[in-house]
Amino acid sequence: MSYQVLARKYRPQQFDEVIAQEHVTRTLKNALKSGRISSGYLFTGPRGTGKTTTARILAKALNCAEGPTATPCDKCPSCKEIIASSSLDVLEIDAASNTGVDDIRTLRENVRYLPTSGKKRIYIIDEVHRLSGSAFDALLKTLEEPPPHVVFIFATTEPHKVPETIRSRTQRYDFHRVSVSDLSTHLKNIADSEKIEIDENALFTIARKADGSVRDGMSLLDQMSAFAGEKITVQSVIEALGLIERQFYFDYVAAIAAKDASSALDMVKKLVDSGIEIPEFCQGLADHFRHLLILQNSNNPEKLLELSESEMESFRNQVDYFTSGDVLRMIRIITDMTADLKSGIDPRLLLETNTLKLATMESTVLFEDILAHLADDEDIEEEPGSGSDLFGTTAAPKPTAVHPVSEPAMDAPPLEPTVGPSEVRAINMPMVQTAWPEYVDHLKRSNPMLSALLAMAEIKEVRDNIITAVFFNAGGTSKQVVEKPHYMSIISESLREYFKTNLKIKFEVDLNNKGKKEHKSPAQPEKIDTEKLLEEDDKLRNIVERFEGEIVGRKKADD
Ligand SMILES: [Zn+2]
Repeated sequence: MSYQVLARKYRPQQFDEVIAQEHVTRTLKNALKSGRISSGYLFTGPRGTGKTTTARILAKALNCAEGPTATPCDKCPSCKEIIASSSLDVLEIDAASNTGVDDIRTLRENVRYLPTSGKKRIYIIDEVHRLSGSAFDALLKTLEEPPPHVVFIFATTEPHKVPETIRSRTQRYDFHRVSVSDLSTHLKNIADSEKIEIDENALFTIARKADGSVRDGMSLLDQMSAFAGEKITVQSVIEALGLIERQFYFDYVAAIAAKDASSALDMVKKLVDSGIEIPEFCQGLADHFRHLLILQNSNNPEKLLELSESEMESFRNQVDYFTSGDVLRMIRIITDMTADLKSGIDPRLLLETNTLKLATMESTVLFEDILAHLADDEDIEEEPGSGSDLFGTTAAPKPTAVHPVSEPAMDAPPLEPTVGPSEVRAINMPMVQTAWPEYVDHLKRSNPMLSALLAMAEIKEVRDNIITAVFFNAGGTSKQVVEKPHYMSIISESLREYFKTNLKIKFEVDLNNKGKKEHKSPAQPEKIDTEKLLEEDDKLRNIVERFEGEIVGRKKADD
């Protein structure tokens, strides 16, 4: 049996077989069923999404012996000829080729002849936006008064380049980029019928590389089965396509999180030695951080991230490495580096210096948190009213973000903590209040970020083993963060561990009460002038100098 490329072998012959374009095929089928046939169609969309395939199916549907029909028979002479590309009534013109203009001229001469055997003369013009001005003019004359037996199907990847005169005379159908999961499902089906063994990560890697194009996905699968034989692993795909292994990003980001600059620099060397392009790595790295950001902030990350289950699991393991504010700053460092790469600076030098920048980046800290911690220290170390220069009660510095913090709003409802089968022990308010600082300390070992947030909360009530904790006027963001389902389960688990019983916790925000943090006051929404601010505010200047900090923004107190 002769070898047939997969794309040809599995080319859809029916509307229902076209991948992930139901919005187009359903409309076309309904129109065919009700006999509403246009003289001009414009199929737009990215390459490899099924435009010309659908055009051929439409041609069959119109000219089928049983047609017009939504389900061409594929058996009659007309269907068979169209499948074999030998129908005299269906003319395909590639406007991108040199012969495009000549073809249009021929088209104009032939268009008045009746179809030889079929019902319609159908002209499929691919990449129609590439036609020259004169060819367009010639075409337009035909399109203005089309003979009743003629149907035009135009396909284009760039609809905005198609003249309005043509767009207005055609029915437009927009084909969408095929999602990675739809494409990998499709490739999986083909691999199964071809008896090719392929693992899920390999499928996703191929589908991502195909970037929404079914045709590219199929030809990559072809290429891979030639390269790797009947068993395709993600390793072989990465090798054959010269990609950067995803694990490399996980390792690099783990080194950054551990502030292990030495390992991260070793990895840069490995990358350079393996001949991988640094801009490609930067793009992949920015994408990696984007995945973390979405996992941290989205209620349905599966929809936004095109990942296999095991890949998703690996990302979840890194989700607590950084705060969203840190991730945003890291993405900014990488995008700045990507821009710098175009300026001709040695790419390796850029990557090394930025790797150091990432690995030594201080975590985002809220000024108010620094104050809170210092204030706590002060309570212990100093007599009340000893007149600390920094924390006088009269001068209350406005909460100022030392680094920009952006926690996109979450509307996830608080999740009921999962409660295990362990015995319920009655816990009352004084018990929790007394133990809270120690519990927060206990939590610090498993999740320092959550611990810092809970340290700012006050216990309002404990009833029926449900703790109500309150964040005060600046605590809106804290509440949103701790209420993420993932964090809620960490908190309830640690509560159970610490209090040795099942406890639920819910959070509230009290906007009116300043709570124990007396220094918090509403911020003015004024534009920040760092120089002026430091000049006028001795205390702020002292803080910035003491911590070698940098003021990059001001955050509203109730954000
Ligand atoms: Zn037929």
